[in-house]
Amino acid sequence: MTFSSETNTAPPIVLSDGNVIPQLGFGVFQVPDDDVFAAVTTALEVGYRSIDTAAIYGNEEGTGRAIRESGLTRDEIYVTTKLWNSEQGYDSTLRAFDASIAKLGLDYLDLYLIHWPVAAADRFIDTFRAFQALKSQGRIKSIGVSNFTVAHLQRLIAETGEIPAVNQIELHPRLAQRELREFHAANGIATEAWSPLGQGTVLDDSTITAVAAAVGRTAAQVIIRWHLQLGNVVIPKSVTPSRIAENFDVFDFELTPEQMNAISALDSGSRVGPDPESFTLGLIN
Ligand code: NAD
Repeated sequence: MTFSSETNTAPPIVLSDGNVIPQLGFGVFQVPDDDVFAAVTTALEVGYRSIDTAAIYGNEEGTGRAIRESGLTRDEIYVTTKLWNSEQGYDSTLRAFDASIAKLGLDYLDLYLIHWPVAAADRFIDTFRAFQALKSQGRIKSIGVSNFTVAHLQRLIAETGEIPAVNQIELHPRLAQRELREFHAANGIATEAWSPLGQGTVLDDSTITAVAAAVGRTAAQVIIRWHLQLGNVVIPKSVTPSRIAENFDVFDFELTPEQMNAISALDSGSRVGPDPESFTLGLIN
């Protein structure tokens, strides 16, 4: 990755493997392939340099086309995709990687994630071994996981000897994930927050709107700022150009420790997505 010195540039986060990920990226969950080209193109014009997709989102082709036609060089854009649950296992992972990279039209990935642990299938160790092989071939720069609990991470590290660079987890003011964030920090794993705005459900919380009024910014900007100041990598999603820009315009103000604490106090352990302990969608026996 290369970074410009413009002020509206997401700060770089150095991963444990030495690679660098922009702290603020753009997520494309639930964006149809027909619409994703426009959304990713807008995001790249606004200044985002990191795009988060997944095989199951069905929009790798449009995402890849927007990246390739952006006028930016490949090494200026950080690209993440995820291996879907049904493809877990060593050989099936190698095939799924080839399919994703072909749809994206790229020759390497910056980050490949195991989308969910699906511990009931007991295949995430073999899956990660395939990730290690792809990394050693230079086809993936960094390898990580998503929706892993502390117990899943402990087993992965013990059995593969490698610490994943990233764990992408549901994380927003109502699900602050303190235990996981502490484990990540102790083990050099970057915490990446998905549904960082709680899929929009946290935006009208009265604590958030009061902080927003105090700092003269929007609720979305305040929540994204909270993530940045916690040290999270964060990937908000929008298809509305003005919101795509608004969500990136967060590098010229700061929340006070009191404002940070007030937002962190909203943690109620409430999820907007599935529970990683039991989520097995796509599992084929
Ligand atoms: P999000 O928390 O980013 O919320 C997105 C929604 O918030 C939008 O659809 C819109 O309704 C609203 N919104 C966004 N910006 C706004 C603004 N400025 N003003 C008002 N409303 C605004 O939710 P998400 O899309 O679920 O999560 C973000 C990304 O995380 C996804 O696109 C995807 O890349 C990733 N993700 C990963 C997983 C996983 O299992 N690894 C799961 C879900 C999402």
